[in-house]
Amino acid sequence: MAKIWSILTNSYNWLNKSLTSIHRAHWYRSVKEITGLPGAMVELSGRPVINFASNDYLGLAGDKRLIKAAIEAIETHGTGSTGSRLMSGHRKLHRELELEIAALKNTEDALVFSSGYLANLGTVGALVGVKDLILGDQYNHSSLKKGAILSGATSLDYLHNNVADLRQKLEINRSLYRRCLITTDSVFSMDGDLCPLPELIAIAQEFECMLLVDEAHATGILGKKGAGCVEHFNCTGEELIQIGTLSKALGSLGGYVAGSANLIDFLRNRSATWIYTTALSPADTAAATAAIKIVKQEPERRQQLWNNIEYLKHLLSNLELLPSKSSILCINFGTPETALSTAQKLQDQGIFAPAIRPPTVPTSRIRLSLMAIHQKQHLDLLARHLLEK
Ligand SMILES: *Cc1c(COP(=O)(O)O)cnc(C)c1O
Repeated sequence: MAKIWSILTNSYNWLNKSLTSIHRAHWYRSVKEITGLPGAMVELSGRPVINFASNDYLGLAGDKRLIKAAIEAIETHGTGSTGSRLMSGHRKLHRELELEIAALKNTEDALVFSSGYLANLGTVGALVGVKDLILGDQYNHSSLKKGAILSGATSLDYLHNNVADLRQKLEINRSLYRRCLITTDSVFSMDGDLCPLPELIAIAQEFECMLLVDEAHATGILGKKGAGCVEHFNCTGEELIQIGTLSKALGSLGGYVAGSANLIDFLRNRSATWIYTTALSPADTAAATAAIKIVKQEPERRQQLWNNIEYLKHLLSNLELLPSKSSILCINFGTPETALSTAQKLQDQGIFAPAIRPPTVPTSRIRLSLMAIHQKQHLDLLARHLLEK
């Protein structure tokens, strides 16, 4: 009797219904298993494919030097950091990494978090609260959007890269709030275009706002030294909150904030996702430090990546590409079904290039991530299959 009753009133039945609607909308996703070292070719579900799905833009995640640095760090410091940075988790190698990041970004200081996602949650949540206003680009990464909700601040989206819309929203709302934080991806992760950074800096100054730029897809790629979009736009030295990840071009795991000494000192005292979580592992920390040294010493990797980007854009010039100024190139599709079937066709031909669909993005697309270590023949083959569809 109790059992029948529990079936009728099961509190978890909604999960099944919800999954059914996700399937019906063609929004269902599942994981795909990759085996072997990261690289331009990987094994996907047991079959070799050319990899256009990775954020490992410089090909460092499988680099012998990062692997060696990680192994040495484990042998010296163990596998876990054993505590938060303020308790028992702080090691010299954390500080070394932070100083390397600050030097690359030309900022007074930097702070590493356990992921880029946590860096955004914890920074936004520390800088603004219920009396404050956040204005975020509508295409911002999930971590910035969730950080805005978590902070308790009033959060408004402005139209993508639309400074006029941002201005209008500031004119109406700015005076009603104490502090204001403008947030933007620097390279938009699902489109590959850049934020209008110089204009955003000017408007932030005009309306007395802080400006946070998320350099997740720009660090190691944009700018002469690979410092990111800030360097690309000659804005180095501006007072900004620069966030990024160690997990993409730097081939490791973790996130960071770079900025003024005061900003970093404040975050060490107020950022919940830094204070109440275990310090970055020794292996990830050492691998990221090794990666930043390579970014500095081997600009030819960055150059090779840009050569690949230009070459593929040229090959695909007849397709409907979204405007991109980064290593992310997207091809537009009318429906999730056509994007999915194209991705499947490519995969059958040995090419891993995922379809990205709503709700992640407003319109369905195939998203291509280019790497410095892609060979010309990889790009030729991709273009051939895309053009014959
Ligand atoms: C990937 C990404 C993050 C999250 O970084 P992780 O280190 O993977 O957690 C944050 N912001 C943007 C724009 C990203 O693309």
